[in-house]
Amino acid sequence: KNMGRAFVYVILGGGVAAGYAALEFVNRGLSIGELCIISQEPVAPYERPALSKGFLLPEAPARLPSFHTCVGANEERLTPKWYKEHGIELILGTAVKSADVKRKTLLTATGETISYKILIVATGARALKLEEFGVTGSDAENVCYLRDIADANRLVDAIQSSPGGNAVVIGGGYIGMECAASLVINKINVTMVFPEEHCMARLLTSKIASYYEEYYKSKGVDFIKGTVLSSFDFDSDGKVTAVNLRDGRKISVDMVVVGIGIRPNTGLFEGQLTLEKGGIKVNGKLQSSNSSVYAIGDVAAFPVKIFGETRRLEHVDAARKSARHAVAAIMDVDKTDEFDYLPFFYSRVFTLSWQFYGDNAGEVVYYGDMSGGGTTFGAYWVSKGHLVGAFLEGGTKEEYEAIAKATRLRPEIEDLGELERQGLGFAVTT
Ligand code: FAD
Repeated sequence: KNMGRAFVYVILGGGVAAGYAALEFVNRGLSIGELCIISQEPVAPYERPALSKGFLLPEAPARLPSFHTCVGANEERLTPKWYKEHGIELILGTAVKSADVKRKTLLTATGETISYKILIVATGARALKLEEFGVTGSDAENVCYLRDIADANRLVDAIQSSPGGNAVVIGGGYIGMECAASLVINKINVTMVFPEEHCMARLLTSKIASYYEEYYKSKGVDFIKGTVLSSFDFDSDGKVTAVNLRDGRKISVDMVVVGIGIRPNTGLFEGQLTLEKGGIKVNGKLQSSNSSVYAIGDVAAFPVKIFGETRRLEHVDAARKSARHAVAAIMDVDKTDEFDYLPFFYSRVFTLSWQFYGDNAGEVVYYGDMSGGGTTFGAYWVSKGHLVGAFLEGGTKEEYEAIAKATRLRPEIEDLGELERQGLGFAVTT
């Protein structure tokens, strides 16, 4: 008979948000045995962004335990021992198969029923598969996605099996761009293929994107834009030998990396919780339509106050901060305000590094030197007479803090020409 276990708090999912939530629980005073984390992954929560960066380096690659949460914010590194010491039950390598929010129970793949008083859903997202776009064969051993440790290990194996070889990277978002850079560093020839006119199309303007594309080209990366993959060719072992593009081209490959977007893992809660923007809709306390269930990280659609609307963000800073805020709201509701989050994205490739704050809406004002790799430049977005977004490549810590602060203040902008003239100085003096 299934006896099951009961906890006060259960975090479903063991990714970035789970790790930061656990730390916040401990900092606020958690009792032994109150909290359980259930994760499909076989390891304790870690800083997922490392998988496309340090993890893929040819020399001294990052490996666990070095990037367990919460190193990303220069906090304590939460190894399995840390969870044990704080009386937190880690149930790893275990998928939850169903949830019943009325009964407040979860059923695991191993057949155990876990009950909770408060559930925090931190299931993140999964990589979209080519099969969802009508292409078959993406389970071949030299076709790689990148979302979790298992994917990252597979990617490292593919890299090591393709010395000096050719890779095609499908998708021009940040996974594609970061993987392409890592492949180049591993001395693999890279062709990037994506349907948009330029890379990072959801965030960057064509002018900023062209700076990065030129830099990538100087490192030997080829770009094939405006088309998509239509099929793979295979050898007798089932390995992919070439990719066929819809525009008729065929490219021989040793390996393929696919980064074509993600879908939030909401499946367990469809029909039980209100969904919005593809995620679980929550209020300013990260609480869902069921008052015992909170959602944080990539799976949560929360009110972004400075935009006056609900958004779902797929970025690590939002995962960290929504996690902390949810735990604050759970443990000390009276002293916890509505979540007031300034969207923040960043990426690091080669020796380049950028940060973006706010919203990329309205008119764009550029500043700085966009002449070539390694320079400092940026852009502001001005909407309805206010500064709403800021981007900076190659800034110092102080300069990044300045654009973050300026964006949060939403200053009125009367004269775009004057903003352009002041450039980065505007943020620094605001
Ligand atoms: P996740 O970290 O994805 O964790 C979700 C967890 O839930 C996983 O452990 C998963 O196995 C588990 N889970 C899901 N369903 C179940 C189930 N039914 N049962 C049990 N467990 C389940 N963001 C940036 O801002 N900057 C970057 O440079 C950056 N780089 C990235 C690089 C890579 C390779 C990837 C994949 C992402 C990157 N991101 C980056 C995005 C960032 O990592 C995510 O926003 C963040 O991980 C979201 O945290 P989360 O806890 O919501 O989800």
